[in-house]
Amino acid sequence: MKLSKKIYEIEGIVQGVGFRPAIYCLAIKSGLGGWIKNCSGKVRLCLEGNSIVIDNFIATLNNNLPIQAKIDKIKLLGKNNITSINDFKILESEINNDFKVSIPADLAMCKDCEKEILDPNNRRYRYPFTTCVNCGPRYTVVNSMPYDRCRTTLSKFPLCERCTQEYKDPFNRRFHAESTACHTCGPTLFLKDGNNNTIRCTDPIKSVIENLQQGKIIAIKGIGGFLLAVNAFDTNSIQTLRDRKNRPDKPFAVMAKNIDVIKKYCKVDPLSEDMLTSSIAPIVILNTLEKQAKKKPLYSNQSIFQNVISPFSLETDICNSENKNTFGIPLEMLSPDTNTLGVMLPYSPLHRLLFENSNLEMLIMTSGNRGGEPICIRNEEAFDRLKGIADIFLYHNRDINLRNDDSLCTIQQNDIQIWRRARGFAPESYKYNFSFSKNILAMGSELKNNIAIGFNQEIIVSPHIGDLESPEAVDGLKTVVDCFPEFLKKKPELIAIDLHPDMHSSRLGKKLAQELDIPIIKVQHHYAHAVSCMTEHNLNNALGLVFDGTGLGTDNNIWGAELLHIDFANSNDFDRLASFSPVHLPGGDAAVYNPVRQLMSRFIDSAIEIDEQILKWYGVSETEFRIWKMQCKNKINAPLTHAAGRLFDSFAALLKVSPNKITYEGQGAIRLEAIAEKLINNNCKLIDLPFTLIEKKNMLFIDWSRMFSSLFENNKDIFYKKQTDTDIALIALSFHKTVASAAVKMIEYGLSKSTTDNIVLSGGVFMNKILTNYIVSDLKQKGLKPFIHKNIPPNDGGISFGQTVAANIKYNKKT
Ligand SMILES: [Zn+2]
Ligand SMILES: [Zn+2]
Repeated sequence: MKLSKKIYEIEGIVQGVGFRPAIYCLAIKSGLGGWIKNCSGKVRLCLEGNSIVIDNFIATLNNNLPIQAKIDKIKLLGKNNITSINDFKILESEINNDFKVSIPADLAMCKDCEKEILDPNNRRYRYPFTTCVNCGPRYTVVNSMPYDRCRTTLSKFPLCERCTQEYKDPFNRRFHAESTACHTCGPTLFLKDGNNNTIRCTDPIKSVIENLQQGKIIAIKGIGGFLLAVNAFDTNSIQTLRDRKNRPDKPFAVMAKNIDVIKKYCKVDPLSEDMLTSSIAPIVILNTLEKQAKKKPLYSNQSIFQNVISPFSLETDICNSENKNTFGIPLEMLSPDTNTLGVMLPYSPLHRLLFENSNLEMLIMTSGNRGGEPICIRNEEAFDRLKGIADIFLYHNRDINLRNDDSLCTIQQNDIQIWRRARGFAPESYKYNFSFSKNILAMGSELKNNIAIGFNQEIIVSPHIGDLESPEAVDGLKTVVDCFPEFLKKKPELIAIDLHPDMHSSRLGKKLAQELDIPIIKVQHHYAHAVSCMTEHNLNNALGLVFDGTGLGTDNNIWGAELLHIDFANSNDFDRLASFSPVHLPGGDAAVYNPVRQLMSRFIDSAIEIDEQILKWYGVSETEFRIWKMQCKNKINAPLTHAAGRLFDSFAALLKVSPNKITYEGQGAIRLEAIAEKLINNNCKLIDLPFTLIEKKNMLFIDWSRMFSSLFENNKDIFYKKQTDTDIALIALSFHKTVASAAVKMIEYGLSKSTTDNIVLSGGVFMNKILTNYIVSDLKQKGLKPFIHKNIPPNDGGISFGQTVAANIKYNKKT
């Protein structure tokens, strides 16, 4: 028999997913000898044996891989004839700077491990850190790459004899499972009270369950950080959590015992079910069942919002809600502003055990942080920052090296759309059609910050870092900026930042560029948005419609309703073709948090007569109004904004849907959409709201002042006399339709000025489903095919991704 030896290089998702053990078993079964080893991200495979058997092995490899593994490329590096074959071996990882490294994602508990922790006869019965080669923490526990146990935070737990046997047994599921552990050798739980005193108990999980049932708030250290847990049916505890976290309205995510529990309260489509039960196990935003409709909004009882219209007091709800809330979840407490609920399933054995031998069905699992700060990861840090919020702390001694939040996604246009890339997803790599001429480190935006690195033909986005509103958050960004290039063995050679100099990410980027003595490129915010969507869809030219919140424009005004023409081949920049007419923001950022200021500014700009009665209706004092008017007229601390987000704010304020002071980003718009949604399937005749098209300096502007004046002048009774909730819902829905019509007008104008017919929709406002659906269907009716985001968030979580490409284009054209 003729024997050969062939050496291959394999690229793809081949590390941290049980790839080498699987190959080992296959090779033994096929009677082949040789070896396999990791080479900084790729895998080298040597096969010895009958040449035909080897070829067959390679040809059928794709059908025999572990669930998480994926082969992108197999390359034959060399072959020769041999006379004898050696036993197949797994060799030590080779660290080599020339090779690509992929950082493995944290994976949710697998079915096999779940079975083991629930089986009293298994040695891992109720062991909260059970993992195997198919599941468990990775990204959050690695200290450096490549991913091997000695370079993780588990290295301080030497494996016991039985775990060692499993680890070394190629036919065991824990063969080279780097994060494996058991009761004997692995990490352990411990419990402390709100005064940092240890609570002695034999079973901390049982004790936590009892405390949850008694209505306590528990800080639980999980995979990527601490979460705060509360029984999701206990309205008093939820209120306490809201008070202590100073988070009156922002929705809480919940973790349900299993998918059947979720189906009891929410509409679960097949795509969402796949996502929920996948190894990513993100939070998925679902519509609740109609019977969950809220009887009373939370905020109607609070004096500050007394005059505010609830999204959920439509007549239909009121007459149907009599006995429906008796068995439902308290949605008005969990998510006061919407009819949706963010749900996830237990993704670690620790979480799973909270629902075992307990009558808990659903728990709030919200970020363990104070507002604006990132989630805590270290034990001492958690106590310092969460004391006063949590009653009990469930700690463990498996250290978290890098923070990782729960990922968040939704269904948009019948497909999954990711809103927050974190646990389970990131740091995934994207193929890029062009080549990066330098390793580009992109610093992202101020809100929903993450970073990205572009090199060769790849872009890797870091997990969500968060809003850079606190020193802790900025420290979090610094840590990731330190670790990421190091993990990937890619030294930054160029830094991309936002045009806005005051963003913490921009400042840090500038400092870093100076330290490393490398060039820096500024990228306009909305340009980065559009480029991110183009790159996601492999487009080289497009009209980018970006509806967003704040972002600095090249003219020093605030942009955010931009139609940009982008053509990578012919320009290193963009042409701005259309926008909304600018309006004043009296008090700058203060007006963003006080939408009624924006409304008054619209009234002032459109010269609408405002009397005492109107001011009273809107809860504005005459002094306030005078100051704001003066600011607008004299242009004192009243910057101009074009942003679509601000149009939604003002309109929500006009309908009194928004509280005068919002308590989280986008609250007014979120309520406006929730109210409009009530009529979405009613086939009601919508009102045509007017707007004006103005062409100026080769640009089209949409001027909205007529919409505000006509609505206000012609329908005064709707606003402060005889308004009904259905009237308000109809106007809210008509508003969405009107904004969509204006968007189409902008795009048609853009089409007349350019040769491309690719259209990309990006920016935070495109998280609004009603608006997205209207625009997409209007464009499709015109024979156009718009592209929306899927894997990259439409919000500022997509900025760093777009910055890498935009900076590369700019740099290449410069040199
Ligand atoms: Zn497992
Ligand atoms: Zn062990």
